[in-house]
Amino acid sequence: MNELPARGPLLIRGAQIATMNAARDVLRADLLIEDGRIARIGPRGRSLRAPRGVRVLDAQRHALIPGLIQAHVHLCQVLFRNQADGLELLDWLSERIWPFEAAHDARSLRFSARLGIAELLLSGTTAVLDMATVRHTEEVLRAAEESGIRYAGGKCLMDTGYAGLREETAAALRETEAIGDRWHSKDSDRIRYALCPRFVLSCSEPLWMAVRDLSAKRGWLVHTHASENKNEVREVRRIVGDDNVAWFHRIGLGSPRLALAHCVHLTAREERLMAKSGASAVHCPGANLKLASGFAPVPRLLERGINVALGADGAPCNNTLDALRELRLAATLPLPRFGPRSMPASEALAMATINGARALGQESEIGSIELGKKADLTLIDLTGPHLAPPAPDLHATLVYCARASDVTDVIVDGRHLVRDRKLISLNASALARTAPQELARLQRRLPR
Ligand SMILES: [Zn+2]
Repeated sequence: MNELPARGPLLIRGAQIATMNAARDVLRADLLIEDGRIARIGPRGRSLRAPRGVRVLDAQRHALIPGLIQAHVHLCQVLFRNQADGLELLDWLSERIWPFEAAHDARSLRFSARLGIAELLLSGTTAVLDMATVRHTEEVLRAAEESGIRYAGGKCLMDTGYAGLREETAAALRETEAIGDRWHSKDSDRIRYALCPRFVLSCSEPLWMAVRDLSAKRGWLVHTHASENKNEVREVRRIVGDDNVAWFHRIGLGSPRLALAHCVHLTAREERLMAKSGASAVHCPGANLKLASGFAPVPRLLERGINVALGADGAPCNNTLDALRELRLAATLPLPRFGPRSMPASEALAMATINGARALGQESEIGSIELGKKADLTLIDLTGPHLAPPAPDLHATLVYCARASDVTDVIVDGRHLVRDRKLISLNASALARTAPQELARLQRRLPR
């Protein structure tokens, strides 16, 4: 683990900026970062004078975008990448993912988180909403703290079902509250705590009620899964007598603090409830396809006024955490069903930026390039042959053509974490090289 770079002032010269502000303005301008925030932009077409001693980054051939935000990931699962192909959700969980999570020790969990964060930062993701596993949660939080990524997430809560992870309700709640109290708002609010009940089938009604009350008391997000798979929806109906989202609303969980991964199989009533409560849906198209789940009706959800963010979900169900691939999928997947104009590139990019910020409850601080916001930024090299000639609309070039390997620089909270394609805070190649040994170590602890 390397030291985090200091938050020095930086002038980014001449990039094409996709601001993702409310008007979705695109402009070519200089941008000055001071004290971790966007201090000046522009003026359009004229150079900003570099204050004395400020580092200057020439970005004339780059796009500058708000750092990409993934509102649903599992850093704890990254070490199981490629170990769970060819399964549907409930078998994928019970046969592979839960045994793997139960086998984690502090070391393997921390390694998994660091490997995932390295992949995320190098491909332009600056903020995540994560679900850790049941045990050793602080290893993930420490990895996030040390890497410089913006992190929201917390301990996975399970008090029902799979014995290897199931915990006693009161003890799990005591632990999540204590960890949240230690970590929430750390490092100038870069680390935020979220309550993470896994999904309806893993949590008892008393657990959900306590999560609802704790979220209201502390203001922490509630991050969970809902309506991913038809068999899951059927089981939820059998057990609680209602659909996922309808049930969450019945027990008073519906609020803008609620982030629901997937929302593939919602009823019209559930969609109306989500729109009314301000809860966010997190679209995970790569994982939904790979687990043969279906996909969320995103244009309709957006039309209803639901905030829809984007996430790669887990490395063993995607099998990549690359936000740009997810973006292309999000922009193209709805078209056969909803029509060729149903998902404009700018609105796909909004899901991975400003809508993601809204799901994290941080839209006043991140998610767009506007004066005074925190400097979470991603620079994308536009000189590759696969980007030429550029689309008339920068959003389209970024969403349809750009790749993770085009990401050159990533700044989080004013810290320049990826410079010229090199990650400063973690040794990415060493992590990749030692991953097979770490996986083998973990596999030796799997039940036979
Ligand atoms: Zn998930």
